[in-house]
Amino acid sequence: MTPDAARVTCLSCGQANRVPLAKKGAGPKCATCGARLASGEVAAVDVQIHDKATRADDLPLIVDYWAPWCGPCRMMAPEFAKAAASLQTKARFAKIDTEQFPAVSQRLQIRGIPLLILYTKGQEIARLSGARPATEIEAFVRQHL
Ligand code: ZN
Repeated sequence: MTPDAARVTCLSCGQANRVPLAKKGAGPKCATCGARLASGEVAAVDVQIHDKATRADDLPLIVDYWAPWCGPCRMMAPEFAKAAASLQTKARFAKIDTEQFPAVSQRLQIRGIPLLILYTKGQEIARLSGARPATEIEAFVRQHL
C-alpha cells in the first residue's frame, strides 16, 4: 500500500476503499455504493462490516456497543451522534446492536454497555464505558488521535 493512501471500509456496503490522504477531508465516496466514507453520521453496522472495518482500516473508527433494551445506551445515542458530527474528518463513528449480534460481545469480552471502543490501523486503542456526554466522547477520541 502506498503511504499517501488510507484503507477505509465502507460502513454501508463493506467495500474496502483506498482513499488518497490528500482527499480525506473532501468527502470521499465509496467506489461501490457511493456512500460517503466520512459522513459525520453514525453508521449502524453488522458483524461482517464491523470486523472488516475494525481490523483493516487506517482511519480512526469508534464503535458504540449498545442494545435496544439498555436505557443509558439510548440516552447516549444523541450525544454520540453529536460527537460524530463534530469529528467528521478526524474519526468515523459506528454502532452495533449487541443483542442482534451477541457474538461480538463475547469475542471482545464486553461485560457492560454502553461501551465505546476506538480502533486505528486495525488495532483496538482504548475503551470508554458508561453513558457519556458528547464533550467527553470527543475528548476521548481526540486524546488518542
Ligand atoms: Zn459502499
